[in-house]
Amino acid sequence: MGDKNIKDTHKMLSDEAAKMGSVRMRFQGEEMITEFFEANNTEDMCRQATSGLVLVDTHAHLTDKAFEGEEEIIVGRAAECGVAFIITSGYNLSSSQTAVACAEKFDNVYASVGFYPENCMEFDCEALKEIAQNEKVVAIGEIGLQYTEGMPPKEEQIEVFEKQIKLAHELNLPIVIHCREAYGDCLEVLKRNQQFLKAGGTLHCYCGSSEMAKEFIRLGLHISVGGVSTFKNADKIKKAVIDCPLERILLETDCPYLAPHPFRGKRNEPSLIPTIAENLATLKGISVEEVVSVTTQNARRLFKI
Ligand SMILES: [Zn+2]
Repeated sequence: MGDKNIKDTHKMLSDEAAKMGSVRMRFQGEEMITEFFEANNTEDMCRQATSGLVLVDTHAHLTDKAFEGEEEIIVGRAAECGVAFIITSGYNLSSSQTAVACAEKFDNVYASVGFYPENCMEFDCEALKEIAQNEKVVAIGEIGLQYTEGMPPKEEQIEVFEKQIKLAHELNLPIVIHCREAYGDCLEVLKRNQQFLKAGGTLHCYCGSSEMAKEFIRLGLHISVGGVSTFKNADKIKKAVIDCPLERILLETDCPYLAPHPFRGKRNEPSLIPTIAENLATLKGISVEEVVSVTTQNARRLFKI
């Protein structure tokens, strides 16, 4: 198929898909093909889509209201699109418990448990420690700092962040860090707790600068790249991603939020990970296969999946 034909096919399929409200991706060489998602033909399409590709969504919220009653469909569709594993994340006690329940229900779903900045006042270390010992729990997170309006005081956030870093160390689990408008303090907290970072971790939905990313990488951490890296106005993140060694990058959706371009504003889901992988390959000027292979190895190594 010539370039023009591919473009025409893409356009036709995207238009159709928009009408149908349903779309899927597969790779052919370095080319991403958009196809209809036909419910009665999923097995055949699955074989095509996954040929040789194993991706990981390292950060999703499968228990979010947006997916209520559809978890099975969402997890199934992800598998058909080559997303072999999904890590679903909690952000307080109840969401961490439902994340673990979801992981227990699906073989290819794992859980991350923790209290993120907004919920740091509810922090319950004993309860978290107990659920973190479930065998499907692969990380403590999301945890971290967020200095936007209406958030709990910085001191409380930092204290709870540090306690969870130490808990992760005690349980030999990596950490999944949520950081918004607090990169300076976040780096400082991590630096002074460096001895507790032996199991590693990642800056989820990384939005910082390239220089800051280098500091996190020096601490042995990864950066996770999602839909934001595909947005047209995301120059700073794109530069960070280009400069960061592929060996330190993970893929994530953070679904149902932050759907990648051209699905921006729509409900995000793990089956859109191939779109994020394709974008990363374009940014770095390498093949999609390399992106998939290396980021999946990174995820397997960090989360011991
Ligand atoms: Zn999240």
